[in-house]
Amino acid sequence: MSFFQASFEARSAAVRVRFGAGIRHFLTDEIGRLGCCRALVLSTPPQSDSAMETAAALGKLAAGVFTGATMHTPVAVTEKAVAHALSVEADCLVSLGGGSTTGLGKAIAYRTDLPQIVIPTTYAGSEATAILGQTENGVKTTLTDPRVQPEVILYDAELVRTLPVAMTVTSALNAMAHAAEALYAENRNPMSTMLAVEGLKAFAAALPRVVDNPADLEARGETLYGAWLCGTVLGQVGMALHHKLCHTLGGSFDLPHAETHAIILPHALAYNECAVPALLRPVRDIFGGESAGQALHDFAREMGAPLALKDLGMREEDVAAAAKLAVAKPYWNPAEVTREKLEALLKAAWAGDPPASRDKV
Ligand code: NAD
Repeated sequence: MSFFQASFEARSAAVRVRFGAGIRHFLTDEIGRLGCCRALVLSTPPQSDSAMETAAALGKLAAGVFTGATMHTPVAVTEKAVAHALSVEADCLVSLGGGSTTGLGKAIAYRTDLPQIVIPTTYAGSEATAILGQTENGVKTTLTDPRVQPEVILYDAELVRTLPVAMTVTSALNAMAHAAEALYAENRNPMSTMLAVEGLKAFAAALPRVVDNPADLEARGETLYGAWLCGTVLGQVGMALHHKLCHTLGGSFDLPHAETHAIILPHALAYNECAVPALLRPVRDIFGGESAGQALHDFAREMGAPLALKDLGMREEDVAAAAKLAVAKPYWNPAEVTREKLEALLKAAWAGDPPASRDKV
């Protein structure tokens, strides 16, 4: 199958990527390549031991450790971290963790222009984009800026082995959502489609093996490969209805990031499939099924993913409010978005029903 398009625009970021089990041990070389000598290591509180170990291994190259990274990148935390970075005279950042830690590194870089080396430990993919989401006074805003794009990524499969299976599955579906929406992105190009298809294939092949045996280093490596591809594609093209719904549910109803992605994805694809069936064909081909939405729903269920928003604590009476908010400032989407259809989609996702096409609602 060719991904040729008669006309397109494409751009890709200058990012150095090193991939391999144990590759984190080359961190010292990478700091040197950047011409730096005082790294500030970042993590969340639960990953502080790993951050301390990393700093200890760096020896004199470590300027300090900041372990306060938290979900949604609150500006107050960033300001503390920037003050810390300045006080220890850091000349580069090492973000060791998932999207929350990477988000903190990006937020510091946005304010200081310090170079970033990211060592991802989930599949979220933030390390491969110039996108920064941050929260202030309960409002989450997103910006795209070249200063935010990490310069170096070290993908080390040994570090994702500790990710619990439930988080592994939702994080993988979060990554796959970037690839799935990239297939029909308004500004897609042949390269982004190739990345998206290969990213989905990697997760389809490796995630079941990781669920069977979370310590399987080769399968972990293949899922991390999928994360790189899906994150890279997120950095290249715009997202649509699925991401709008997830941002609404996360931002206004405080639902957890990766779990919400996992639940919404099959429903969003089913919604859009009537408008772009040919563009979503790779999803049917890779996961096997009559429709992309059903195929991903079945895959998510087999992987043990959560299927119902009610199980994340969302109240049924919030469904209508969420649909209203999501249509207020819609993202570009291949199928027409109406409040009525979104409410039907969200009702099904709330209850955990299989996804349905929305073309006749
Ligand atoms: P996370 O970074 O919040 O991690 C969740 C929890 O898992 C944390 O407590 C973390 O310490 C722990 N953890 C991470 N890796 C682990 C491992 N290997 N073993 C054990 N525990 C581990 O979650 P996430 O889903 O990776 O990131 C979500 C955040 O990333 C959201 O704020 C989202 O908006 C953002 N994000 C941003 C982009 C972007 O391009 N800007 C892309 C994707 C996600």
